[in-house]
Amino acid sequence: MIDTHCHFDFPPFNQALAQYWQAAREVGVTRMVVPSVSEQNWQAVLALTERFAGIYAGLGLHPCFLETHTENSLAALEKALVARPLDCVAVGEAGLDYFVANVPEMKQRQQALLDGQLWLAHRYDLPIILHSCQSHNELLRLVKAYPGVRGVLHAFSGSEQQGKQFIDAGLMLGVGGTVTYERANKTRQAIARLPLEHLVLETDAPDMPLAGFQGKPNTPAQVSRVADVVAGLKSCDRDHLVTETSGNAERMFGFH
Ligand SMILES: [Zn+2]
Repeated sequence: MIDTHCHFDFPPFNQALAQYWQAAREVGVTRMVVPSVSEQNWQAVLALTERFAGIYAGLGLHPCFLETHTENSLAALEKALVARPLDCVAVGEAGLDYFVANVPEMKQRQQALLDGQLWLAHRYDLPIILHSCQSHNELLRLVKAYPGVRGVLHAFSGSEQQGKQFIDAGLMLGVGGTVTYERANKTRQAIARLPLEHLVLETDAPDMPLAGFQGKPNTPAQVSRVADVVAGLKSCDRDHLVTETSGNAERMFGFH
């Protein structure tokens, strides 16, 4: 099983990395992708990949960390990607967050950073890990400007129609804690109907606690419960679900 999105360099994990990774492995997690959020944590994320077999990194500039990015950040990212180790398998976390960016100037900066990162993903033939909040149409417009770019829209929460649009743009959908909430009817129905060959599993830990675990930090081991719920929604065998979604993640990220 693969957790395709976990911020494993964040607290509380950084207090007890080996224990959290062991707990994930015990429930069947074999691989995990740790996206970064700004230049300041690229080294920490790359260090995780060196310390633990099975952990991979994404290097990127997250839209919610705008204040840490400068006009040199994209150039620095390109330099880091050129020098990337094999365990760096993606650009990201990149994207748009119009809940956070509520003024035009911030939206424009987010768009420019996303556009630059899509260009880098295309240029270096890497998948891109995308974040989108209240910005689906704009994100789609930017992604479509780079035909052939591949990646994942993480923490998908949308309708079946929106899911299809992302899939048509060449993206996988990252399925996480949202679908564990009964009230997330629209997204649950979408996941039930959308083709399994475009879905990957994730936790977004330490964020996005699953239903029944609110108030506690989410952990990568919880991807096992996400698998239970998604198998139930798709009325398919859990082993089949895990094999297929892991295969999707392996094809997209090209783990060596
Ligand atoms: Zn994230």
